[in-house]
Amino acid sequence: METKVVKIGNKVIGGGNPILIQSMCNTKTQDVAATVAQIKELEAAGCDIIRVAVPDMEAAKAIAEIKKQISIPLVADIHFDYRLAIAAIENGADKIRINPGNIGSEERIKAVVDAAKAKNIPIRVGVNSGSLEKELVEKYHGVTAEGLVESALDKVRIIEELGYDNLVISIKSSDVMMCVKAHELIADKTNHPLHVGITEAGTLKAGNIKSACGLAMILSQGIGDTIRVSLTGAPIEEIKTAKLVLRTLGLRKGGIEVVSCPTCGRTQIDLIGLANKVEDMVTEFDDLDIKVAVMGCVVNGPGEAKEADLGVAGGIGEGLLIKHGEIIRKLPEAELLPALREELKNWPRGNV
Ligand code: SF4
Repeated sequence: METKVVKIGNKVIGGGNPILIQSMCNTKTQDVAATVAQIKELEAAGCDIIRVAVPDMEAAKAIAEIKKQISIPLVADIHFDYRLAIAAIENGADKIRINPGNIGSEERIKAVVDAAKAKNIPIRVGVNSGSLEKELVEKYHGVTAEGLVESALDKVRIIEELGYDNLVISIKSSDVMMCVKAHELIADKTNHPLHVGITEAGTLKAGNIKSACGLAMILSQGIGDTIRVSLTGAPIEEIKTAKLVLRTLGLRKGGIEVVSCPTCGRTQIDLIGLANKVEDMVTEFDDLDIKVAVMGCVVNGPGEAKEADLGVAGGIGEGLLIKHGEIIRKLPEAELLPALREELKNWPRGNV
């Protein structure tokens, strides 16, 4: 779906631009050192846009110092207090996320909109299934996709009527299918860019699965301009999953795809250990866009590994190193990981 182009700091979303990855710090925003350290870690892992919570004035003021030390755009997340939104904008936030429904009177919303307008920064209007207005819950007999869409569009209208349309919309629900339906509905009704994610998705395992299912159904319809994988876990895990989702859907190039066999009675090396180590190791090589196979035996292993650009197939305490379909070396088990790494270091660049 072609959405409007919106600029967030030094990044551009919408209008067919690549889908960007967001995450949110879980440090105290006023702890500038910890927040900057986390942002840098996330940026190095592939985070394009970072959001921080602004629960009080100290946090709003910390944004100025944080901004001096980072290079990716910063989004300030504000609830309830319009003064915090204004302070976050004045302190250099590149975008703010508010729910106009909990900001209060129209004058207060107008004050926030005017501040955003003065700096020409986008406002993300966020609605969440957990805080859907009572009237809409009653109108639609419960929390529904239709209710979420109506709630979001009502809020967008409030801001548009104040003469501002530099907007991004997010509709979040922890119910995956409701979230998917809401995005399908809203994509037909607006051309504002959409920030997509399954909220409160859960811990690493459940959260990754729910996020991947939801994002795949939404993104594969061409809906979505930025994404967040929301996990109860370290934010860096959100980035890893988001990158994998985009790559799996063919929406982002770059990075190494690791394929590995499920192991069986024929496996005679620690293949599970090796595959996990390879998966970690290849994150160093985001400048390559190739496939690496980690296979347990010589029955299916060489065949699968031949399909990949580089691979190993395990034997008895040893393994074959296979490159472009050719067996190039036989190595002891302990040397397989370093040998793969060496090959990747020397792999020709320029194919991403
Ligand atoms: S590649 Fe070999 S070890 Fe792995 S599952 Fe297949 S047959 Fe088993």
